[in-house]
Amino acid sequence: MIKKLRIMTPGPTPVPVDVLLEGARETLYHRNPEFLKMLETASNDLKSVFRTNDHVFILASSGTGSMEAAVANTVNPGDKVIAVVGGKFGERWADLCKAYNANMIELDIEWGDYLRPEQIKKLLDQNPDVKVVFTTLSETSTGVVNDIKSIAEIVRKTNALLVVDAVSGILAEPLETDMWGVDMVVAGSQKAFMMPPGLAFVAVSGEKAWKRIEEVKSPRYYFDLRAYKKSYTDTPYTGAVNLVYQLNKGLEMIKSEGIENVWARHAIFGNAVRKGVKALGLELFAKKPGNVVTAVKVPEGVDGSKFLKFCREEYGMVFSEGQSQLKGKIFRVSNLGYVDKLDIISAIATIEMAMNKFGKKVPMGVGVKAAEEVLLGDERS
Ligand SMILES: *Cc1c(COP(=O)(O)O)cnc(C)c1O
Repeated sequence: MIKKLRIMTPGPTPVPVDVLLEGARETLYHRNPEFLKMLETASNDLKSVFRTNDHVFILASSGTGSMEAAVANTVNPGDKVIAVVGGKFGERWADLCKAYNANMIELDIEWGDYLRPEQIKKLLDQNPDVKVVFTTLSETSTGVVNDIKSIAEIVRKTNALLVVDAVSGILAEPLETDMWGVDMVVAGSQKAFMMPPGLAFVAVSGEKAWKRIEEVKSPRYYFDLRAYKKSYTDTPYTGAVNLVYQLNKGLEMIKSEGIENVWARHAIFGNAVRKGVKALGLELFAKKPGNVVTAVKVPEGVDGSKFLKFCREEYGMVFSEGQSQLKGKIFRVSNLGYVDKLDIISAIATIEMAMNKFGKKVPMGVGVKAAEEVLLGDERS
């Protein structure tokens, strides 16, 4: 039987053929002026994505590399920092802070719940010596999106830096780095950028962040942002040449759609997924679901792994499992990146069929109908 692969996962995400083909072009020497020009274009376009006039660096690593770069460049051993943990990726901030011997205050939020800005305010009032606050725009493991704008308003009045993991959130949720006063934002290529894994991005915005990067004594080498700044928009080490071709292609598509339209697309698709699964009687896991990925509770009595295996093997539809303590309890439907209206309909249709297959009888078409109504209401071409 013919089966087309549809990866509705929050990274890697589907890659358009035009972007795939870019990767097949001849590999240039990374000091070739033609390639340096491409790096410059990429750096400039990334600035418009990150909404900053300062610097965005391109690193060859997965998204976690950009998180490590942020920690290595802002944390001295023994420094007091806050790590907000409300899921798998918040945990990663905490793990990195531990690895760099920070004196860490872990702000634990129940998985599925969101960070209240007042919680940050209270902690910073009690601990005026905090140097950095590490938080997450979109917590991909739970589907929660945090209110970075309000958090930044609090942190910018203190001596602490605000570092945001926007690996899955960027382009899917509005984020105004300069305007909101976020000091550092990190991201990765395999999410909304419509390209394969392998690149990571670090945006550094403003004097406060640069001063800190200069002062910090933590050992760092490959991820030393001073080296990247010095050779901006060149690259201190061999650039991931073919990935940069692909990045430029993806950014070109994003630019022609328009950043605000990309945000709007994710908002509509996120809404369509939520309406679709709710119409099937399924429950959302996140208390404040965002437009990146929808975490859905596995229906009572259904084996989550078997459910996903059926979707994958029968329909080529790949959803993500729950991570860590959420394994088997939720599954995640992403609408991140190169996803269109009919991908959303296919995803909901697959869930609908899988539910009937697994004894959770629902009238065929109710989920699809709910999603269609949202999509039909979106009349941008
Ligand atoms: C995907 C992701 C990362 C990075 O993961 P890598 O596997 O290292 O690319 C970090 N944070 C969030 C929120 C993510 O979704």
